[in-house]
Amino acid sequence: MLRIGCHLSSSKGYLSMGKEALEIKANTFQFFTRNPRGGNAKAINETDINRFLALAEEENITPILAHAPYTLNACSADPALRDFAKRTMTDDLNRLEYTPGNMYNFHPGSHVKQGVETGIAYIAEMLNSILTQEQHTTVLLETMAGKGSEVGGRFEELREILDRIELSQHMGVCLDTCHIWDGGYDIANHLDEVLTEFDQIIGLQRLKAIHLNDSMNPLGAHKDRHAKLGEGHIGLNTFKRIVNHPALKSLPFYLETPNDLEGYAREIQMMREASM
Ligand code: FE
Ligand code: FE
Ligand code: ZN
Repeated sequence: MLRIGCHLSSSKGYLSMGKEALEIKANTFQFFTRNPRGGNAKAINETDINRFLALAEEENITPILAHAPYTLNACSADPALRDFAKRTMTDDLNRLEYTPGNMYNFHPGSHVKQGVETGIAYIAEMLNSILTQEQHTTVLLETMAGKGSEVGGRFEELREILDRIELSQHMGVCLDTCHIWDGGYDIANHLDEVLTEFDQIIGLQRLKAIHLNDSMNPLGAHKDRHAKLGEGHIGLNTFKRIVNHPALKSLPFYLETPNDLEGYAREIQMMREASM
């Protein structure tokens, strides 16, 4: 059965997200670990988490995907910002141990004039200083649109980061359809070729999650503006093929389209009807 959900607001806690997921017929979801622009996370509420875990078990809501704040930049030129990224991610991973067996996705970062190689080195250095043998969360690098000096707009860059990670058994990749389209990978006309390229460069066994978004911009625009499924340049047919593709169909899919809950419910239903 198709595993699909959307991005939900974490402001009312885990149980509330679990209930919202059920309402819109989702069996997984994504949430921000804290305000997407940064700041402190709310204190852990164990009662809320335990209720959520019971609901998730009963209703088979899994896996959940936590998303790091956008402000986290592991390869900033400013050591204070790199340190902030490291402290934030460490704190997030500690908190995620309350819901073991899940995933944590982050944007690799922007190198801002330092060059992509320096960026990659900083990102790998941070991950190596944070990951532990004992952790129960898989950390995902998100494929990016290559906007500005973003690292991760090419599969090769993600591969280079992964190659430098010591505890790489805890690492994976989250593929964002809008981002790779904006990065110049033509999934609308050459889905198989793009996936073959991903497999050759990164390895499909590293692919752990898909962000399912249409794009407001044409192929290779390097913009990163999400559209509702079927209302952008990628088109609905491609999303139908993606959720049925043998290399992808067993992965969890997350909508990050500009929608309210009702809109998400419609997109989830549409994808469920399309999936065989
Ligand atoms: Fe993201
Ligand atoms: Fe995304
Ligand atoms: Zn995006």
